[in-house]
Amino acid sequence: MKLNRTFKACAAGCAAVMMAAGLAACNSAPKEDAEYFDTISSYTFWENEGSEAIPQPNIGQMVWDFLRTPTDDGRAKKVAFIGYDGCRSDVLIHSLVSGAQGGVTEKNPNSALNKLLDEGGHIYHAYAGGIKGTATEQHTSTAPGWSALTTRVWGQLNGITDNGMPKNINYKTFMLQAAEELGMRATFGASWQPHFTENYVDEIQYVKDHPEIQMTYHLVKDDAELRDYLIDCVTAGSENEKDIIFGTFEATDHAGHNTGFANDNPDYIEGFLSEEQMALDILNAIESRPTYNQENWLIVIVTDHGGIGTSHGGQTLEERNTWVACNREIGREYMSAGGYNGYAIEATTETAQ
Ligand SMILES: [Zn+2]
Repeated sequence: MKLNRTFKACAAGCAAVMMAAGLAACNSAPKEDAEYFDTISSYTFWENEGSEAIPQPNIGQMVWDFLRTPTDDGRAKKVAFIGYDGCRSDVLIHSLVSGAQGGVTEKNPNSALNKLLDEGGHIYHAYAGGIKGTATEQHTSTAPGWSALTTRVWGQLNGITDNGMPKNINYKTFMLQAAEELGMRATFGASWQPHFTENYVDEIQYVKDHPEIQMTYHLVKDDAELRDYLIDCVTAGSENEKDIIFGTFEATDHAGHNTGFANDNPDYIEGFLSEEQMALDILNAIESRPTYNQENWLIVIVTDHGGIGTSHGGQTLEERNTWVACNREIGREYMSAGGYNGYAIEATTETAQ
C-alpha cells in the first residue's frame, strides 16, 4: 500500500549525474526540485519562507512545549492533532486562496485549514525525510513521518526510518507522555493498521502494563469512522472524552497511490477536500463544547510526506516538502536554522531536538 522507492525517486532527477560521475548516491538537487520549490514558494498563504521549513520533530516539540508549560490563566489545555496523510503542498491551492493558476479564487468554506487561518492561525512550510545527506535522512513514508512528528526526534533515534519498523519505547509520543506525566486523557486514532501492528506495539504494550495511564490506541475502518470517533472524543460527557486527540485521515494518500499524487488529479483533489470537510466537522465539534471558553486548545493540522507519481518514500522535494497549519503562531525557534530549505543537499545545522 505504501511503497518505498528511494532509488526510483532519486533516479528520475539524478540518472544523468550518476551515469556521468559514477556516483552511488543522489548528490545534487534535481532540476525538478528547484521548479517545485519555486511553484510552492509562490503561493501567498505561507507564513514562513521555504528556507525556514519546519522539521517534523520540531512540530511535535512545539506541541509538547505547549502541553508541559503550566497554564497562566486557569484554562485547561487541550490538543487536536489532525493529519492529512500524503497531502502535497500544491493541492492546498484547491482550498486556500494562493494566487496560483488553477487554484481557487474564493476560499473553500468547507475547509478546516481556512477556518484556522480565518481565526488567527497560520500555515507553514515544513519537511519530512530528515536532513538529506546526513545520518538523519529517512524515508518519506507514513511510519517515519508520524513517528518523527509525535516523538520529536528523527528515526535515527526513535527507531523508525522506514515503514515496518517498531518505535523505540524510550522515545514516547507526546500523547503517551502527556497521559503519563501530566495525567491527561489521550488517544491515537487511525485506519492505517501498521501503526497498531508494527510501529507502536511497544507503546501499546506499555499502556497495557500501566493501566493507570489514560491513553488509548484506536483502530478505525476508514476516514468517516475516524471523524465520528474523534468527534465523540471531543464531546463533553462522552465516555470516550479526551484532552488530546491524534488522528490521520487517509483519503489523499489512498488517492495518490491509486491514481497519482498530483494537484491536477481530480481523485487526489477530492480526497483532500473530503479531509478538509471531516477535519472541519471536528473543529466545529470542539467549538460547541459548553466549556470551550474555559479551555485553551492547540489545534494542528499537518501532513506526513508528499508524493510523486503514485508513490513516495524517496528524497525528491515533491516527497520531502510538507506543511503544517496551527491555530496560533509557531515561533521561529522551531523553524529550520542555517537556511536549510528541507531539500538542498548541503546539510547545515541539525535543528531537531
Ligand atoms: Zn503517509
